[in-house]
Amino acid sequence: MASPKAPESLVERVLVTEEQITARVAELGASIAHDHQGRDVRLITILRGGLIFLADLCRAIDLPLQVDFMAVSSYVGGRPGVVRVTKDLDDSIEGASVIVVEDIVDTGLTLNYILRMLKERQPATLEVCTLLDKDVRRIVDLPITYRGFSIPDRFVVGYGLDVNGLYRNLPFVATVRDEALAGAG
Ligand code: 5GP
Repeated sequence: MASPKAPESLVERVLVTEEQITARVAELGASIAHDHQGRDVRLITILRGGLIFLADLCRAIDLPLQVDFMAVSSYVGGRPGVVRVTKDLDDSIEGASVIVVEDIVDTGLTLNYILRMLKERQPATLEVCTLLDKDVRRIVDLPITYRGFSIPDRFVVGYGLDVNGLYRNLPFVATVRDEALAGAG
């Protein structure tokens, strides 16, 4: 199967290779399975960035589990940390062991808002699994239970992360050239 390729004008440097992602996702899946035996596991993903990670992660977790999706638009009225839910979960999470599966946590403001909202719905446990963690940019302290890779403060693309809606299908994570970001929203 041919893998999607990125133009040289976009990619500055590959930060995490496809092989590294595959190996780490397997490790994260094994840890999650080990920690959640016998629980009502729900993987919740915020569309659209987390989609690819979720698809691979859920197949690396050897447990019965359910997936559900939420979509948000950030930031309402330009206020960081205030998000509007554009698609809510389909199912109740009361009493469930919820793991929010994220592609990347940057400032943490979006996830912080979502976690507060989910907590009110009284899950048994509420955890976070993120593939990428830009921890140097963190503004709010978040409990991240499962972390794929810590990355530097650079805008990245691939494996679910987009530039202007494109390139989510790249199988690796790469930093983006400044020129390619000029004008990107
Ligand atoms: P936060 O609220 O943590 O600052 O922002 C989280 C959201 O910003 C992520 O879910 C993602 O959509 C977007 N984001 C943050 N950093 C990056 C990045 O390096 N690349 C891309 N494509 N999106 C990012």
